[in-house]
Amino acid sequence: MSTLLKARPQQNSLFRSWQGPLTRELVQAPSAHGLGRLPERLQPTATTESVCGFCSTGCSLKVHLRDGEAINLSADPQYPVNRGMACPKGWEALAPLSAGDRATEPLLRGDDGRMRSVKWNGALSVMVDRFRRIQERHGPDSLAWLGTGQIPTEELALLGSVAKFVLGIRHGDGNTRQCMATAVTAYKESFGFDAPPYTYEDFEESDVLVFFGSNLCIAHPILWQRVLRNRRNPDILVVDPRATETAQAATRHYGLQPKSDLSLVYGLAHLLLKKDWVDHSFIRKHTNGFDAFAEFVQAFHPQRVSAETGLSVEQLEQFAERIGCGGRVSFWWTMGVNQSHEGVRVAQGIINLALMTGNIGKPGTGANSITGQCNAMGSRLFSNTTGLLGGRDFENPQHRNEVASILNIPEERIPDQKSLAYDQIIEGIQEGRIKGLWIVATNSAHSWMHQNGLMDALRQLEFLVVQDMYASTETAQLADLILPAAGWGEKEGTFINSERRIGRVRKVRRAPGEALSDFSIFQLIAHYAGCADMFRDWDSPESVFEILKKLSRGQPCDISGIEGYSALENQGGIQWPCSEQMLSDAGGKVAAQRRLFEDGRFHHEDGRARFIFEQPRALPEACNVDYPFTLLTGRGTSAQWHTQTRTAKSDVLRKLYPQNTYVELHPEDARALELDPGEAVQVRSRRGSVRAVVHVTPIVQPGQVFIPMHYPEVNRLTFPVVDPYSRQPGYKACAVCIEKTSSKDLS
Ligand code: SF4
Repeated sequence: MSTLLKARPQQNSLFRSWQGPLTRELVQAPSAHGLGRLPERLQPTATTESVCGFCSTGCSLKVHLRDGEAINLSADPQYPVNRGMACPKGWEALAPLSAGDRATEPLLRGDDGRMRSVKWNGALSVMVDRFRRIQERHGPDSLAWLGTGQIPTEELALLGSVAKFVLGIRHGDGNTRQCMATAVTAYKESFGFDAPPYTYEDFEESDVLVFFGSNLCIAHPILWQRVLRNRRNPDILVVDPRATETAQAATRHYGLQPKSDLSLVYGLAHLLLKKDWVDHSFIRKHTNGFDAFAEFVQAFHPQRVSAETGLSVEQLEQFAERIGCGGRVSFWWTMGVNQSHEGVRVAQGIINLALMTGNIGKPGTGANSITGQCNAMGSRLFSNTTGLLGGRDFENPQHRNEVASILNIPEERIPDQKSLAYDQIIEGIQEGRIKGLWIVATNSAHSWMHQNGLMDALRQLEFLVVQDMYASTETAQLADLILPAAGWGEKEGTFINSERRIGRVRKVRRAPGEALSDFSIFQLIAHYAGCADMFRDWDSPESVFEILKKLSRGQPCDISGIEGYSALENQGGIQWPCSEQMLSDAGGKVAAQRRLFEDGRFHHEDGRARFIFEQPRALPEACNVDYPFTLLTGRGTSAQWHTQTRTAKSDVLRKLYPQNTYVELHPEDARALELDPGEAVQVRSRRGSVRAVVHVTPIVQPGQVFIPMHYPEVNRLTFPVVDPYSRQPGYKACAVCIEKTSSKDLS
């Protein structure tokens, strides 16, 4: 029986009813969308390929051009990632470029508080001058920047280099802190390098796929299609407090209590040990710390874990049995794990399960973090924010020396301390230590936790620069200076996807008005700061790619063997590593699908992976009589992307999700509160309140409510807590109450 037959049919909620059409129609190959039926004046004259600029799946899109400008696109049938499929965001990728609220000229706030257009010359002179004056008055560390995982790697490297080596801004972080920092820290500590080990083929090669906190059906719909191509009749196990679309399509759903996942993974390890479903040979040869781990998990007996997770002892035993006796087992996780007050240890608990059962380095296995943004992986390796270029450390003198010599810059220009993390930068602003901030391609005023606190901090700044495609974002509206930037499709470069595949991004449209590529803006800032010479070799994205190759040489992420952009274009992207030696050994072309650790060697000096563990900690904000519900947040639909800065610009996408903020509430709770479907309520936390429409559904458990993260108000509610190791926010659980409002509906 195939997986397609085995997987249960979707039981879609009202708000996700298009998931069926997605599966059956929207992901189909381009011929189904009738390019051939277009009138003559809309017929393309040429076609090129570009990797999609939304999520980390990294689908390739065929972009159809007329007179050099993109007029339409379709999914690339040849690309090894998506094989002719794209989700609604991909199909609508051109729509946000034509939005009426694009930033088309630099805007500077005057003394009267009004924004006025200025020339680039004036804008960048003011920016450099204001930043210098702030540093003179308040010290070098009074500036910071917040970047993104949404722009090409070449631009990220230039941003991080200009900011740190020219402007002397030590503190820079990115919105990847909000999605991937936990996985980065977990991998570094466990494997010795931030190295997601898998290739997408592993979705199709597993006998058992375990998804922790991952709603793959809608967050990574094309990867879900890869699961459905699995011909091994796999078990699909989903761990999630909500009965998400993925949980409903799975073979087993473990609906645990919010943030009890650390107890669960230790409880599973306990049962695997008890039954001796353990790969002793792999552990002995390739890991450290197993004996201490085995002793530690003795305390996580099934009765205790059952009480802490809400799962029955039978469920726990069945779960462990599927891992222990399931054959090839792959473990996957996303934001349900990463966005937690103890996410790093949960991720490492998942890694421990893979290590102790020898499920790593082989087809259909792995402890696999699925990334969020299209270029979060590029940001992780080359953004020069909290890590030095090429996966290095600022505190390591040898690493600083290597980078200085590759870039031919004075070593003193490289900070010898790492940056503050995102939350520490915000705290620095609140405490008056940071006075100037540069935000690039991210909408912090929507996406950061405890929104009111963040807004107060941004208003406190002496000078806020926002560089974005749109002048209308919640963040841009607070700016003193707006720098209009080109978007995806209007510039060149590369992205790195979740499976470490580097793919090409191309310019297929001209940016509107005076908007410039982020690359050009960073070059100009170096020029206005009087340091253009330092970047004379960084004259195009392709020349920066050659510099990145040099920076990667000898690192685990070595890409020195990639023969430029043409190799990426001809080979359907190339996964890292791809060193010169690997290329030579492979006869000039590496395999299209490669996973890490096939030889059992990890990146720690002794070549061994580590078992890392720690006692679970209580939820930072527990429910009580005044705030009796746990608020969960997450993805709403596949048609929505994060803060909706781009997806809300598409007429098509806007039809695929509810326009009003809604809150999912269990029928028992709705009855107790005497609430009807469609009724308006206030959802209130200790930090703020949100007006929402009630959606009564058993998708959530009693005592839990869910609001999608895409609605701008949701972060008024979220609790400001970070994981102590990764400093990633824990968006997924805070205490709220539900109050009836006088209005019957929201219109
Ligand atoms: Fe593919 Fe993600 Fe783009 Fe959708 S948003 S087309 S899944 S890369």
